[in-house]
Amino acid sequence: MPIPVRTLLGPGPSNPYPEATEALARPLLGHLDPEFLHILDETCHRLREVFGTANARTLPLSGTGSAGMEAAFVNTLDPGDVVVVAVNGLFGERMVDIAGRCGAEVVRVDTPWGRPVDAEQVLAAHPAPKLIAVVHAETSTGVISDVSGIGAGKGEALLLVDCVTSLGGIELPIDDWGVDLAYSGSQKCLGVAPGLAPFTMNERAWARRVLAPRSWYLDLGMLGAYLGEGRKYHHTAPVAMIASLHAGLGRVLDEGLPAVRARHQASGEALQRGLQEMGLELFASEGSRLPQLTTVCVPDGADAHAVRRQLLHDYGIEIGAGVGVWADQVWRIGLMGYNARPAVVTLILGALREVLAR
Ligand code: PLP
Repeated sequence: MPIPVRTLLGPGPSNPYPEATEALARPLLGHLDPEFLHILDETCHRLREVFGTANARTLPLSGTGSAGMEAAFVNTLDPGDVVVVAVNGLFGERMVDIAGRCGAEVVRVDTPWGRPVDAEQVLAAHPAPKLIAVVHAETSTGVISDVSGIGAGKGEALLLVDCVTSLGGIELPIDDWGVDLAYSGSQKCLGVAPGLAPFTMNERAWARRVLAPRSWYLDLGMLGAYLGEGRKYHHTAPVAMIASLHAGLGRVLDEGLPAVRARHQASGEALQRGLQEMGLELFASEGSRLPQLTTVCVPDGADAHAVRRQLLHDYGIEIGAGVGVWADQVWRIGLMGYNARPAVVTLILGALREVLAR
């Protein structure tokens, strides 16, 4: 059966940049081929630029964004360590789950879904945590939270940031904002297929790492040996995915990070303006709306799932449902990477207007 062409506007994998897709179709290199190792090194270098960091330990982990999340926690938390986790959506909840599995003492700071995390509240939650963890861009609700405020007040704590949906799409200068560890996913604003977790960790976090993490695969002590001079075999690198990430990052850096961010900002604002002009209500609170992921309330009388089905069937457009209790009440529309363009905004607004008028 031929694969249908779709405009994927959901919170999941976006349509990759053409360069990233083409890279997947090139002949495969061996994982120890010097040419591939050069691509891997250059990918790490490009990731440093996009993260805004000088961290030597910056690499694409083999796994999706959740592998990045798990790597961050298993390498920083020993049983009994205190971690403050800010929770304002599904991915904060996932952090709590993973930190609990590490045997850490988890202090959660809850904020209603749809609202940003309050930095002061997070900082006041415990006098001396080892780690503070926060999601920069909550994909489940379309909300951005203040990372720089937490970085400025973190004291002795390490700061871990989930930037799965923010990296490349909105500002996040890791070093300037005092972030000690961060992970992302290839499939969001970087415009690559899902499968890799860009990861970075500074010397401060390295000095306080868990020496024998319970995960073998995600032990950053061993993964470090995978990079740079004198590298040793750790696991077989997913060569096609790394070549694709390399190309996707190249595309982002060629266009220029400020221009890519401006494109995300302008598309998101245009979409949100258009939705409001149609009389629809946005879910995320004003002032905290992500441009790359818009949450919109399903209007009275509309069947949330039927509308999504019709958009997919009649227009080849896939938008996401709300998460958890919001499944029938919210739609999530992602404009990430290649999809953060005016033409896509026009398409989704027109299609949604037509389907809602039926
Ligand atoms: N964190 C956030 C903010 C996400 O949006 C996602 C996925 O959408 C994840 C973590 C988990 O990433 P993955 O689904 O690639 O494992």
